Amino acid sequence: MAAPEFMQKMAQVMKQLVRWEGYSKEEVEAAVDYFISNIDVVRLHYLENCVGCGACAPSCPYYFVDEKYSPVNKAEEARRVYRKKFTIAGMILGPLVEARLPKSDKDLDRIVEMVWRCSGCGACYTACPFGVDSGVLINLMRGFMTFTKRVPTMMAAFEMIETEGFYKMIPAFGALWQQTLDAIERELGRKVELDKKGAEVLYLPSLIDALYTPNAVVAGAKILDKLGLDWTMPSSPLGVRPPVAAVLGRYDRAKKVLSEIYEYVTNLGVKEVVMIDGGFPYPWLRFKMPPLLNKKPKFKVKHLVEVLVEAMEKGKLRFKQVDDKVTWHPPCQMTRRAGLTVEPAYVLSRVSRGFRRLPHHGLEAYCCGGGSGMGCLTKDEIEMMAKFIGAPASMFVSGEKERRFLEETEKAYKAAIKRKMEDIEKSGAEIVVTACPVCIHTIQLGAKLYGPKVKVIHLAEYIVDKIA
Ligand code: SF4
Ligand code: SF4
Repeated sequence: MAAPEFMQKMAQVMKQLVRWEGYSKEEVEAAVDYFISNIDVVRLHYLENCVGCGACAPSCPYYFVDEKYSPVNKAEEARRVYRKKFTIAGMILGPLVEARLPKSDKDLDRIVEMVWRCSGCGACYTACPFGVDSGVLINLMRGFMTFTKRVPTMMAAFEMIETEGFYKMIPAFGALWQQTLDAIERELGRKVELDKKGAEVLYLPSLIDALYTPNAVVAGAKILDKLGLDWTMPSSPLGVRPPVAAVLGRYDRAKKVLSEIYEYVTNLGVKEVVMIDGGFPYPWLRFKMPPLLNKKPKFKVKHLVEVLVEAMEKGKLRFKQVDDKVTWHPPCQMTRRAGLTVEPAYVLSRVSRGFRRLPHHGLEAYCCGGGSGMGCLTKDEIEMMAKFIGAPASMFVSGEKERRFLEETEKAYKAAIKRKMEDIEKSGAEIVVTACPVCIHTIQLGAKLYGPKVKVIHLAEYIVDKIA
């Protein structure tokens, strides 16, 4: 399909996926079916065992923006549906016990606002004395809302582009991947054998890594070479930032993308997959893929920081120590949702004598506010992405109502960053090292909006030239 023809087709598909006006009972029924099909014992615990104590609220970056965005208030949207469909009291008494399904355009407007004031950071989960993960319920309600078509066009577009494999037809993505491979080979001064069967490691950066943090992608490859690993890369990308569908709470569609990745990796027969992204792709590939696909992978999924720690422990990795005033911003997904709480500090404290922790670190670290698609909904990001794929920016805003939603969302996102920047300022750091393209983008934006004037850099890029 020629590029303009493809864009036209995409615009038509978008119109079927997104609608910011009107209400349909049939769509709500389909949404409820999806909701019900995703209630497992863990989500049941989250739905049932909140006592409304509010202990989770101060941890939430969006509660910091407005108290109405407390985790429990946002998760209440899921509980209303749950009570109506699962509890006897809810079925009989309905609204008297806060059990109800959305019944109007206004209800959908309220829910879409609530579910897009969450970065999925899990800070509420670790703060809750009962281990209730409101972020998971909010994410499930995002999935619910895709059936009612009240969803940001930008996110619906990217989910479709990835899940349906349209990225393979967008010339800009193909060119970006090729540029990335060329840059890696230039830097290494050798050819990389792509799709190499039986290699020890599959190095798996995403297109978003390549777009936002190209130097880190090259640095990651260089580090694998320095460690003497036998590694390969895919000759073409395995998604945009897989699985994007997870951000929209569509586990059925995430499964489709993960299944393709699983098949590719299994066919290669590698022992390990190494990622540099510490955002949502890491816990999804490492922890959620096996149960979702009902498979037992023959390969391990690791974040680069784990590879570094293992090499240090074996005495295979040493650093030329520096005195940088450097700190670590823990990406929420690799920290709270994947347990890599101490490894980055272990590495950085050996790289720089000036390493210091943030006042709020480890499980208590503040979220930057940009996760779960929140950082992708600004006017600048939409324009940048549209330009990149060669589409008009207007294609990513369905009309006046969505435009107003996006303006308010951008304001909330920019306000949410402030708390993180204050924490960084208190640390006295001049360099913030992290490992998620969206965290890097968000903290860079925060530094412009509020200060301090810090350099924000990916872990791979920061350490690569400090390896002894
Ligand atoms: S997951 Fe994070 S952003 Fe979402 S409600 Fe919980 S604390 Fe707030
Ligand atoms: S989710 Fe946990 S911390 Fe938050 S209000 Fe409910 S019980 Fe309290």
